[in-house]
Amino acid sequence: MSMLPRRLARSVRIGHVTVGGDAPVVVQSMTNTDTVDAAGTAQQVFELWQAGSELVRITVNSPEAAAAVGEIRRRLDDMGCNVPLVGDFHFNGHKLLQAYPDCARALAKYRINPGNVGKGTKRDEQFAAMIQAAIDYDKPVRIGVNWGSLDQAKMARMMDENHLRDVPLSADALMREALIQSALESAQQAEELGLPGDRIIISCKVSNVQDLIRVYRDLGSRCAYPLHLGLTEAGMGSKGIVASTAALGVLLQEGIGDTIRVSLTPEPGEPRTKEVVVAQEILQTMGIRSFTPLVTACPGCGRTTSTYFQELAQKIQRYLREQMPVWRSQYPGVEDLNVAVMGCVVNGPGESKLANIGISLPGTGEVPVAPVFVDGEKTVTLKGDNIAEAFQDIVETYVQTHYAEGGRLRRAGNPSKIIPVKAL
Ligand code: SF4
Repeated sequence: MSMLPRRLARSVRIGHVTVGGDAPVVVQSMTNTDTVDAAGTAQQVFELWQAGSELVRITVNSPEAAAAVGEIRRRLDDMGCNVPLVGDFHFNGHKLLQAYPDCARALAKYRINPGNVGKGTKRDEQFAAMIQAAIDYDKPVRIGVNWGSLDQAKMARMMDENHLRDVPLSADALMREALIQSALESAQQAEELGLPGDRIIISCKVSNVQDLIRVYRDLGSRCAYPLHLGLTEAGMGSKGIVASTAALGVLLQEGIGDTIRVSLTPEPGEPRTKEVVVAQEILQTMGIRSFTPLVTACPGCGRTTSTYFQELAQKIQRYLREQMPVWRSQYPGVEDLNVAVMGCVVNGPGESKLANIGISLPGTGEVPVAPVFVDGEKTVTLKGDNIAEAFQDIVETYVQTHYAEGGRLRRAGNPSKIIPVKAL
């Protein structure tokens, strides 16, 4: 789908998923369950996968968690979920991967944070043990640097060297350089230990938008490893979404980023799957990949007399998203469907004609009828109390006739009018 230029990166296989090369940008997510709770974690991984997450990371922070990983994998397999699991290791990963071979086998990738591998002389030894596990079990790794856990010994050395420069780097620039060097040196070390370069993914996450953009531009120009892109600790609600979108949008537009994660803090009661939806919507609204039919809706204004059209837009968007686990395999291409729900006659008919299916609801003072447009042509006018249901039926019929096997031919060669299921 995307016509954007893309930074050329090696491709890395993670289970059945490819990251980098000419593979589409991969959406991933992370659970927030206690990994020791195998049933709860498997359930959340399943939900993230159903929402469209193509890789799911789980924390592996204790012997008990490591012991549960095999069971999580088995439960997922029993549920028909083949999403690759990524193990997130800090501090004790070298021990856990050695002591729990079932865990090492069940994971499809190991995340290693060079700042949390060990201190002093133990650092290299423990890093080497993790890389050896990746070699032994034939797994790729992500060298995942985070500014909150940057290797402090390295930072101190770089600060000393910086003082001796004729023109010292600013504190921010030094921090960015330290992040990049930490990632690249660790990747080089992994290769020297015998891990092939096409088994390595890199990330350098920070929580500030401008710093993230600078770091990834620089990082992207200095290596050919695929890049895992994400704004760390993005925050909650609209702030987290906006900050992630601002940062990722700029970088993706420049072709930087081979897999993305949106690190949202869920609001109380909000499903974990929100981060998957946001990641998909970033890619889809930028025209990079399609995942789910999207609804174009006007913001509403004084010409609309009620929240009816907002509710209709929400209902249709929710309906479309809920159908996707089944539609994805049944109706290939349906993710590109565009539906418009508009509030009045000013822009309603025009915008509706541009969508595959559009409805223009009546605004203040307008005749209480809602014309429906299919592939640019008005097909029916709805009125009465069941407009939402009738419109949903029209969408369903359109999907069945245009995206099922054979239906796609009609869509490509003969944009047709459809007969609505019921016009009220
Ligand atoms: S389409 Fe109509 S209701 Fe919607 S924002 Fe424009 S003028 Fe207002």
